[in-house]
Amino acid sequence: MSSAPKAAPTFSIEQRVPLASMTSWLVGGEAEYFAQPYTVEHLKEALLWARTNNQPVTILSGGTNVLISDQGVKGIVITLRKMAGAAVREENGRLHLDCLAGTSKSELLKNFLKYKLEPALFLAGLPGDVGGGVVMNAGVSEGFKPREFVEITDWVEVMRWSETKNDFEVVRLEAKELHWSYRHCEGWRPGIIVRAGLSWPLEPSADILQRVKQANQTRLTKQPLDMPSCGSVFVNPPGHASGRLIQESGLKGFTIGGAKVSEKHANFIVNFDQAKAIDIHRVIEHVKKTVKDQKGIELRTEVVYLGDWTGSAA
Ligand SMILES: Cc1cc2nc3c(=O)[nH]c(=O)nc-3n(C[C@H](O)[C@H](O)[C@H](O)COP(=O)(O)OP(=O)(O)OC[C@H]3O[C@@H](n4cnc5c(N)ncnc54)[C@H](O)[C@@H]3O)c2cc1C
Repeated sequence: MSSAPKAAPTFSIEQRVPLASMTSWLVGGEAEYFAQPYTVEHLKEALLWARTNNQPVTILSGGTNVLISDQGVKGIVITLRKMAGAAVREENGRLHLDCLAGTSKSELLKNFLKYKLEPALFLAGLPGDVGGGVVMNAGVSEGFKPREFVEITDWVEVMRWSETKNDFEVVRLEAKELHWSYRHCEGWRPGIIVRAGLSWPLEPSADILQRVKQANQTRLTKQPLDMPSCGSVFVNPPGHASGRLIQESGLKGFTIGGAKVSEKHANFIVNFDQAKAIDIHRVIEHVKKTVKDQKGIELRTEVVYLGDWTGSAA
């Protein structure tokens, strides 16, 4: 398609863009249409284009928690990773970071570290962007304080369609209006998170850098960070650790095509040799079935499936 979408004269929408390199698993097909907004105004243009052209919208941010089908994604994929930047201010004894959704968590980490504040600890080694962090209520299981996005988020701004205005608008929602749970946040839909306001008390910890280094070291030791993955594939069922259940079911190293259950951390599935998304999906389904058969426990994926999965039987 020409770079001249009906409602977006200054903004290009591309066609048939490969998505694999935009995900941490390095798998998946093409986006039928694709846009990479740098600003909230660009995002609105892309959404208006989708609305005018009756195309479904799929949002991709850091791409570190998604499994994109080999068949690709119908409609328009909008990646937010360039819509980034954080305004930093000190106010009422707190450090405030007003972030565009595509701001990376490593950028947050840098800012919290500069002020020697505790959120740096759980953000250490946490990939992806702020928007994805809110949607997934990203965090760690260690006893850190804070350890999840819910604890550092004050508000989010969501771009959504307004029937009254007959236009897209940005609405601000206070974090306490949202429904936060383990690796999940609801209450902001419909729409797309465009900004988030994060804050933490300005109470520096002298040894935070040391502890961040330690946390990074622990990740390196326990996780297969040398191979493409999306981190933990399954959420932990109440009272259990998914990794342990998978390990005890004898699944470490279980392989289909180029995808396998990591030998280092059983809740990671790694792309060790040019895996296809379908390989990963089949490993996921096999793990679910085996754990259910052996342990009587249903595993639920943390990773979000995107795109066209019709006809992708395990
Ligand atoms: C090596 C590795 C280690 C990891 N370790 C952890 C960990 O310790 N703890 C943890 O919680 N996670 C971990 N993850 C998973 C992942 O990094 C987090 O879930 C992260 O918050 C996802 O952010 P993202 O920007 O990559 O989101 P994406 O993967 O791009 O998107 C995730 C979902 O959110 C939606 N979405 C993203 N941004 C927006 C937005 N602005 N508005 C609306 N919808 C949006 C997408 O459509 C998709 O459904 C790890 C991943 C890897 C690869």
